[in-house]
Amino acid sequence: MHQDFFPPGIAVLTGAGISKESGIDTFRDADGLWNRVDLEEVATLEAWHRDKKKVLDFYNRTRAMFRASGIAPNDAHKALARLEREYEGEVTVITQNIDPLHELAGSKRVIHMHGRDGEIRCMACKAVFESDKDLTPVSVCPNCKAVGELRPNIVWFGEMPMHLDEIYEVLERCGLFLAIGTSGEVYPAAGFVLHVRRHAPRARTVELNLEPTDNKSLFQEHIYGPATEIVPPYVARVLTQGWR
Ligand code: NAD
Repeated sequence: MHQDFFPPGIAVLTGAGISKESGIDTFRDADGLWNRVDLEEVATLEAWHRDKKKVLDFYNRTRAMFRASGIAPNDAHKALARLEREYEGEVTVITQNIDPLHELAGSKRVIHMHGRDGEIRCMACKAVFESDKDLTPVSVCPNCKAVGELRPNIVWFGEMPMHLDEIYEVLERCGLFLAIGTSGEVYPAAGFVLHVRRHAPRARTVELNLEPTDNKSLFQEHIYGPATEIVPPYVARVLTQGWR
C-alpha cells in the first residue's frame, strides 16, 4: 500500500483541449490539426526515415505557430498555476501537450510526457539540447557532429512516452486527479484515471472537458464546457472548500 501524504497531492492531466482557446488546434476535433495532416506522414519514426524534410518542416511550422503573436496562456493555464502557488500540498501538471503554455502561465511542476517544443535530440548520440532553430535534413549535431540525425524531442506515434515512472509515482500519491481537455483516446494517458483508482483508491477523480469523453464512467465528477470557463471556478472551489 502506498504511503499517505498530507496534504494530499493534486495530479492534473492536460491535453490539447486546454490550449484550444489559446489558438492551438486540438488533435481529434472536427477542425483539429490531425484532420488536416496525415499523421503517418509527419509523426512517426518511419515517416522521419522516409522523408526527413517533410517531418522537420511540419515541426518547424508548429514551432512558428507556438511563437506567433497572440498565442499566450489562457485563463485555464493561469488557474492551474494559481492552484500550484496557493495549494499547500504538491500540484503536478502532467501534460500531453508539447506547447509551452503551462510554463508561460507560471506552473513550475510540469511533466511533458510527449516531449516539449524547443528541445531537440540527436538520434546518433542521444544527446538532448534546447533549441528554437529550424531543423533541416543536414543539420549537424553540436555534440557528436553527426549530419541529419537531429529531430524534435517529441514522442511520435509508436514511441514510448517520457517520464512514466515519475508520473505513476505522482498518480499513486495524489488525493485529487483532474483530467482537463483530453479525449481519453491516447494511451497510456487515457489509462491514468484507472491507475489512480487502483493505486490511490481514496483519490477523487474529476473530468473537465468540453464534452463527455469515452472515459466518462471512470470519473466521479464531470464538469463540461470550455476550459477557460470551467477550470478557474473549479480551482477557486478547491482552494476555498476542498474537493469533497
Ligand atoms: P485530443 O485532441 O485527442 O482531445 C482534445 C479534447 O479536448 C477533446 O476531448 C475535446 O472535446 C476537448 N476540447 C476541445 N476544445 C476544448 C475546450 N475549449 N475546453 C475544454 N476541452 C476542449 O487531445 P489529447 O487527448 O491531448 O490527444 C493527445 C495528443 O494530442 C497528444 O499526443 C498531444 O501531444 C497532441 N497535441 C498537442 C497539442 C499541443 O501541444 N497544444 C495540440 C494538438 C495535439
